Amino acid sequence: MSETGQKIERAARHHALPQIGTAGQARIESATALLIGLGGIGCAAASYLASSGVGQILLCDFDTVDETNLGRQTLYGPADVGKLKVARAASRLAEMNPDVRLTEIPDRLSDDALAEAVARADVVLDGCDNFATRFQVNDACVNEKRVLVSGAAIRFEGQLAVFGPDYEQSACYRCLYQDADESLDNCSGNGVLAAVPGVIGTMMAVEALKVLSGIPTGSPALNLYDAMTGDWQKVRIKKRESCPACQPVG
Ligand SMILES: [Zn+2]
Repeated sequence: MSETGQKIERAARHHALPQIGTAGQARIESATALLIGLGGIGCAAASYLASSGVGQILLCDFDTVDETNLGRQTLYGPADVGKLKVARAASRLAEMNPDVRLTEIPDRLSDDALAEAVARADVVLDGCDNFATRFQVNDACVNEKRVLVSGAAIRFEGQLAVFGPDYEQSACYRCLYQDADESLDNCSGNGVLAAVPGVIGTMMAVEALKVLSGIPTGSPALNLYDAMTGDWQKVRIKKRESCPACQPVG
């Protein structure tokens, strides 16, 4: 089969969805997604962004693969330990779908560099492991008016929220969290059930694909997943009047 034929066959199940169709899939294939963090969440999200043919994926993570990552970070194997996550992830994703353009950003980005990366993207997915970066990514998304799909996972708990792009009317991540909440902070040193980051990363890919194909995502809500009970809870996120990120000055 020709390369064009393979590409059409790969997208056949999207073409068959009236909510996406050939026009929506064309938008997905011409879109750019910025993915912050290539841990358990990022590995799951990246897999579906690549398999579904997102045109370009900017992969941002300065970390290297560690043995303790392998239980849940599914793009890596034992031979990848000590290597840069962005490099190993890009190599694996390119095998999955050679049509996707992959850009490796193996740096801890300055505000300016992050703003530039966010401005290049049609959607931003944040699955990083610390609040400083989450706030930095949020602020760049507010300034550049980009949709932010945010996810976190720890122990048996996961959470997911979609913000923007109309931050004058709707809440941002800093409306939800004012200061670093250590109980939600990274899984290093804490436990996490292997598949929970996978659930959240997969849900983030669902929301990102909706954004890219033009399906409305609704007003911001915090979706909380309790893996112990299997329950999801949805809490609306209200705009905070004193939010330093999304409230216009003056
Ligand atoms: Zn805000």
